[in-house]
Amino acid sequence: MADYEYDLITLGAGSGGVRASRLAGGYGAKVAVCEEDRVGGTCVLRGCIPKKLLIFGAHYADHMEDAVNYGWTIGGAHHDWQTLIRNKNSELDRLNGIYLNILKDNNVYLKQGRAVVIDDHTVEVGGERLTTENILIAVGGWPNLPSIPGIEHAITSNEALELPILPKKVVIVGGGYIAVEFAGIFSGFGSSVTEIIRGEEVLRGFDNDIRKSLSEEMRKRDIKILAKTEVTEIKKSGQNLLVTLNSGSVMETDCIMYATGRAANTKGLGLEKAGVELKKDGSIVVDKCNRTSRSNIYAVGDVTDRIQLTPVAIQEGHALADMLFNKNKQFVDYSNVPSAVFSTPPIAVVGLTEEEAKEQFEYIDVYESNFKPLVHTISGRDERTFMKLVVDSKTDVVLGCHMMGIDAPEIIQGIAIAIKCGAKKGQFDATTGIHPSSAEEFVTMRSKRSN
Ligand code: NDP
Repeated sequence: MADYEYDLITLGAGSGGVRASRLAGGYGAKVAVCEEDRVGGTCVLRGCIPKKLLIFGAHYADHMEDAVNYGWTIGGAHHDWQTLIRNKNSELDRLNGIYLNILKDNNVYLKQGRAVVIDDHTVEVGGERLTTENILIAVGGWPNLPSIPGIEHAITSNEALELPILPKKVVIVGGGYIAVEFAGIFSGFGSSVTEIIRGEEVLRGFDNDIRKSLSEEMRKRDIKILAKTEVTEIKKSGQNLLVTLNSGSVMETDCIMYATGRAANTKGLGLEKAGVELKKDGSIVVDKCNRTSRSNIYAVGDVTDRIQLTPVAIQEGHALADMLFNKNKQFVDYSNVPSAVFSTPPIAVVGLTEEEAKEQFEYIDVYESNFKPLVHTISGRDERTFMKLVVDSKTDVVLGCHMMGIDAPEIIQGIAIAIKCGAKKGQFDATTGIHPSSAEEFVTMRSKRSN
């Protein structure tokens, strides 16, 4: 066998790359991870974590409003955006330090710089050529913006997390996870928000009832949703931006943010030259072992065309390290992957939507509950919670579970275990509820929705 300097070189120190590298190092492999930015990747530096910290910050506005009917007098509340951004950045520094320690503790060498794959067994980073038995590409994705005149005036979620001041007016383009999450953040802090979507409803691919329920709640919060609308041009006018729509009308705003999907970060990595097959959209083609078209080059996470979620990238990185260095071949199961949208209120789902279930099963039953959560009976806030179970009528197996409302992500995480175990509706019914809670609705729904 050829003698290489490393057993594994990983390109990208995000969630998937760090998990694979640290486990491989822990199993005794000689590993280097190459990173041109700070260690942590999208989730820690530009995604899940900073976004959720901003969401926590925005929710205090609701808590203060809701507290009044509970007898609290809150005077002189004022929000300082710079304090939030500074404290959020300190937390990211702390997490970055933890990631660095994890790599060090597992004997993983960190190579700082942009890495390029030279051939099957050679990677160049910072002018240095390193040889390796295996290569892992885990460089993630990057916001994808359409090319329209003036697009250079738009920001993405990357910049939205670093804005020096809070914009008074924000236009958000897109109706996916990032768009609805940031609509909630900006409106929570008091910005006037308009969301522009090219379809009829936000969150394509989610259960239709959930999509409608969220749109209603967003509108109650004065978030304007312009459906079937596209931006054709953005122009700068003094301090403001003029946004032209396909209807011909022009909107004035302080800030326009695009959240129109993310593309694999594969440009300039030398992959085509090394013979790694890419899809048209630039993502890497892999098999169920995370192997690319080159037998010793692997890819995990958002750089592949699979589910773009941090926990999935972590599972893929974990499976790869186990297969290569722990004699344990395992495959990630992509069925019943739960996910949450940290919109306001949040959404969480696992399993099939009603629409998908109708296509795949002959007969289904739908149970749903739509109610004002107990906390808002006194707070007076006009916000609903919506919950839904989709069941296979023949087998009684719960195919899908969907929720929009306070704590949905915390609730659905537990339900996802039951769904993964193939739980039946009868077993949900036999489970004792926790009272008073919203979650108990999932075990007390008895009436099928009449279709
Ligand atoms: P999504 O794929 O979720 O949504 C993209 C949105 O942009 C869709 O509404 C799409 O419309 C619209 N769109 C795409 N192209 C255009 C265009 N040219 N003009 C106008 N609209 C356009 O992407 P996001 O950027 O929101 O997020 C990327 C991924 O990151 C998500 O899919 C998710 O996997 C992950 N993520 C997960 C989070 C979580 O777990 N909470 C949070 C944030 C991100 P249409 O529906 O019509 O195609």
